[in-house]
Amino acid sequence: MSASDLLARTGAGAAARARPLPPLTDRHVALRAEMRAFVERELAPHAEAWEVARAFPDAALRLCCERGFVGLKFPPEHGGAGDPVAAAVFAEELARCGSGGVGAGIGAHAGIALPPVWRFGTPDQHERFLRPGIRGEKLAALGITEPDAGSDVAALRTRAEQVDGGFLVNGSKLFITNGMRADFVVTAVKTTADGGHGGISFLLIERGEGMTSSPIEKLGWHASDTALITFDDLFVPAENLLGELHGGFRLIMVNFAWERLMMALGALGALDVVLERTVAFLRSRARRPSQSARHRVAEVATALETGRALTYHALRLHLAGADCVREVTMAKLATQRAAYDGADSCLQIHFDAGEHAEPALERAVRDLRLGPIGGGTDEIMKEILGKTMGL
Ligand SMILES: Cc1cc2nc3c(=O)[nH]c(=O)nc-3n(C[C@H](O)[C@H](O)[C@H](O)COP(=O)(O)OP(=O)(O)OC[C@H]3O[C@@H](n4cnc5c(N)ncnc54)[C@H](O)[C@@H]3O)c2cc1C
Repeated sequence: MSASDLLARTGAGAAARARPLPPLTDRHVALRAEMRAFVERELAPHAEAWEVARAFPDAALRLCCERGFVGLKFPPEHGGAGDPVAAAVFAEELARCGSGGVGAGIGAHAGIALPPVWRFGTPDQHERFLRPGIRGEKLAALGITEPDAGSDVAALRTRAEQVDGGFLVNGSKLFITNGMRADFVVTAVKTTADGGHGGISFLLIERGEGMTSSPIEKLGWHASDTALITFDDLFVPAENLLGELHGGFRLIMVNFAWERLMMALGALGALDVVLERTVAFLRSRARRPSQSARHRVAEVATALETGRALTYHALRLHLAGADCVREVTMAKLATQRAAYDGADSCLQIHFDAGEHAEPALERAVRDLRLGPIGGGTDEIMKEILGKTMGL
């Protein structure tokens, strides 16, 4: 059975169907098909090898850049396409490669590190960081989390002291995706001695003397490098200040909306593949699947459609410039644990049938566990939602 037949029969991949619902257009449907073929041909076949190697090659990012997929969100004058809807479609399709690590590495570059450079950068910073990033000549990372500051961003301690011509940076950043090999890190630092949100700024820190990266081993995302980065009397020139001095908290908040939407779409794309494969597995067996298996599949498909409807609703609001903290937060909350639970349920279907799951399914379960943690934990999403209701 072809993938499209399977899609039609399982009901998965509703957003990929022929009649697009806004914000998708016919062009996005065609683009999705092109991306899907690209991901199936160029990325998915290598997912297991890159998992074992603990890295995907730079060439994989460059291929995505050459096809124009990394620049979709950014304006044409920077080498992009000015089409954030297409960028959203790519986030969903990229996740179908079956490696959360590849999605994380390319997603961290295109979806969370480059957007603030575009939005808050100077023309000089666009030239030195954004355009080479879109072309795949420079790899970017976003460095916010620290050993003692994760959910509570105001607790940041990495200090950037103003000195003649720039800043002297001391401190460390934890769990930084692309942190082992990024050419530059969009880094949150404290530029005042007092605590709180007020004294946070961003620096574009280029890899060099005074910056050390150490790898972090983790449960999933094995194809993506994650690092503890230490800055030791690292000099950063004044022209690498991104946005306003002491104005970094706003940058963090603005960036979160897109990051959370991209994470929601990524979880949907990854779970879509898991469901398709599980349905194919059940259909390939001589006996009709048990009621338990059928019910599990029904629940996963329902969670997918629910998550997709909410996420595209939040995306529509975001693109319209509406205040959508509530909907974006709900989309992230609704998709991450559901994707992990859904993949786990598909794993259980294989166990119940007395069969080992293929490596791709086991990998999906490990990879999807990051969802309720990264980009703001599920608990933090609930805190935000409580606040939106005045609680
Ligand atoms: C694989 C991986 C890749 C990552 N990539 C990046 C990256 O590229 N850049 C980057 O900056 N960061 C990155 N992170 C960090 C990630 O964003 C943080 O892990 C996340 O924000 C949580 O912070 P924390 O780990 O310090 O946990 P903590 O904030 O210490 O939280 C620990 C637990 O306490 C809960 N908790 C905290 N505060 C509250 C509260 N107020 N109410 C209720 N419960 C609460 C949390 O939900 C969590 O369960 C990555 C993390 C991982 C694991």
